[in-house]
Amino acid sequence: MKIFDAHMHLNGGQTPDPKELLKKFEEVDVIGACLFSIDPEDPSFTFKERMDNLFKWTDGYEGILYPVAWIHPFEDDVLNKVREAAKRGVAAFKFIPDVYHVNDEQPTKVFRLIEELGLPIFFHTGMCYDFHESAQFCNPVDWECFVKYRNIRVSIAHAGFPWCDEALHLFSKYYYNGRKLQRAVAGTETTYLGYPWIKEHMITNENGEPDYVMPELYLDTTPGPSGTFREALFKNLISWCPNNRRVFYGSDQYADNYQLKYVKPALQRERDLMKRLEVPANMVEDMFQNNIKRFLGLVPRISDI
Ligand SMILES: [Zn+2]
Repeated sequence: MKIFDAHMHLNGGQTPDPKELLKKFEEVDVIGACLFSIDPEDPSFTFKERMDNLFKWTDGYEGILYPVAWIHPFEDDVLNKVREAAKRGVAAFKFIPDVYHVNDEQPTKVFRLIEELGLPIFFHTGMCYDFHESAQFCNPVDWECFVKYRNIRVSIAHAGFPWCDEALHLFSKYYYNGRKLQRAVAGTETTYLGYPWIKEHMITNENGEPDYVMPELYLDTTPGPSGTFREALFKNLISWCPNNRRVFYGSDQYADNYQLKYVKPALQRERDLMKRLEVPANMVEDMFQNNIKRFLGLVPRISDI
């Protein structure tokens, strides 16, 4: 089972060495990764330094290492920073809502701009082991606000741990909304056709065919939940939303300090769990390799549910 690691960090502590990272990847059958730039709250780096460091990791490794800009919505001149990161070619953005709600005014301006730019957003959800009272900002239920968007892809990391049930319920809400739209476009479901919310999302694509756009919510299963919590998460996911194409995997490792002694057993546990739960091979391949490509917008969106 090959694995695409959708959730990795950079800490800026070491000189970028993508070659060395890919050598380590080979040992554990990892075929690519999304790399999140240095923490925007780290005062020792300017925005330009964060971006330069990010692209030192990914330049020349297109299609293997994907650059993701980690931004804080309250940093100075944030909208221009978002535009600049997009111009430089980031594949996505990353946010950790530690002191704000995702539907607050300022963050909403930033997310609306990213929606316009057509790029996806990796979000942290779940309780952080930090020194803030941040749990109030990270409950996945808050991500219901993205139903108001017309056309955006967002992911919720750590499956919202410890609120995995809430995360799954929210995930299924977006997933089944997508199914309704898909059936409406195919003409097999007419119940909702007169409703304004469904009209708003139905479009004609560039080939002149009926198509749809919608806010898509992906479940990023980066631990968070481990042991019996993880087993329960996958059991519920498989029974609740079988064959969905909206789940992906991440390790939360640092590219600058990729520790095989932790990665190896962690990936082995993941492979064992998939076997024990008898997850169908195509669903395993989607979760560990393919769905991230949908999230990044690398494959067509129609019929992707
Ligand atoms: Zn992380």
